[in-house]
Amino acid sequence: MKAVVFRGKEDLRVEEVPEPKILEQTDIIVKVTLSTICGSDLHILHGLWPGPPLPPLKPGSILGHEFVGEVKEVGKEVKNLKVGDKVTTSLLFCGTCAYCRDKKYPLCENLMLSGAGELPGAQAEYLRLPRADVCVWKLPKELPDEDVLFVSDNLSTGYFAAECGQIHPGDTVAVFGCGPVGLCAQICAKLFGPTRIIAVDKIGYRLKVAEEKGAIPINAGAKDPVAEIKRLTNGRGADVVIEAVGVKDTVLHCFGAVKKGGNLSWVGVATSAIEIPWHELIYTNITIRGGWTFANRIPELIKLIEAKKIDTKFLITHQLSLDRAVEGYEIFDKKMEDVLKVALKP
Ligand SMILES: [Zn+2]
Ligand SMILES: [Zn+2]
Repeated sequence: MKAVVFRGKEDLRVEEVPEPKILEQTDIIVKVTLSTICGSDLHILHGLWPGPPLPPLKPGSILGHEFVGEVKEVGKEVKNLKVGDKVTTSLLFCGTCAYCRDKKYPLCENLMLSGAGELPGAQAEYLRLPRADVCVWKLPKELPDEDVLFVSDNLSTGYFAAECGQIHPGDTVAVFGCGPVGLCAQICAKLFGPTRIIAVDKIGYRLKVAEEKGAIPINAGAKDPVAEIKRLTNGRGADVVIEAVGVKDTVLHCFGAVKKGGNLSWVGVATSAIEIPWHELIYTNITIRGGWTFANRIPELIKLIEAKKIDTKFLITHQLSLDRAVEGYEIFDKKMEDVLKVALKP
């Protein structure tokens, strides 16, 4: 089968590789019908893996963890899934450790992820998924792949960002970052009833998309976003600030833009340590929460997509055949052609 193989830093190839086989009887094999490239895949490609809790992908392995597919084969012990089911997955948690029993799946002590560490990824024609009964989610067959492609990661993360912000009706929410996760956070924030969403980025075309989706754009390349947010909020700052970038400047802006007693939600993946103004907390009394892909909300997100309360199809600005994955990575990495997300069709 064809697959996108990581050969080492800055080296990516579409290669012919053996099809995956059932290794444990709790595995399934999925025929991937659509996958996409994530910002974390770019981190792997550039040798910038942020570190624990998962090891980086080994050279020679298949990339990718955002996908939709159809079950092709099930192990003998799989009870909840059958051949032909439409599925996706996110973090592959174990379901039995103390964190899983507490339903804090991203904190699982035995976490795995397709396209990280030893486990081959989803940018391929077929994919093996372990622990299928525990952490594979069924999708309604009526929903097109494009509608549900992002529940596995970007949309789950965006929803979690909004949840961590504990948005109340009437709040002003500022989202730093208008990439796929930032845009998902803006869409999800709306579900909690804020009066307005302010979107901050330096990239014009991404700000334009945020504005089209109803946010007030601030170009951080042209204006001081903290001063702008203060100006829009009677000098106080936003009730809720969401960080969806993961770089030092943005993180510091978020601390400046949140009002006293407000909430800061942090989902941007940083590839190195960032020093924060910890000492200010004693005067500002802000609450900081954060985390990564929160798979728990996939069932709720599917319902919201079915009810047309969430629509993320617009994020797919490019759809290429898997053969053209290297080109897709370049477009996504260099932010060419006003790209938001590149979907790969096997
Ligand atoms: Zn991802
Ligand atoms: Zn666990």
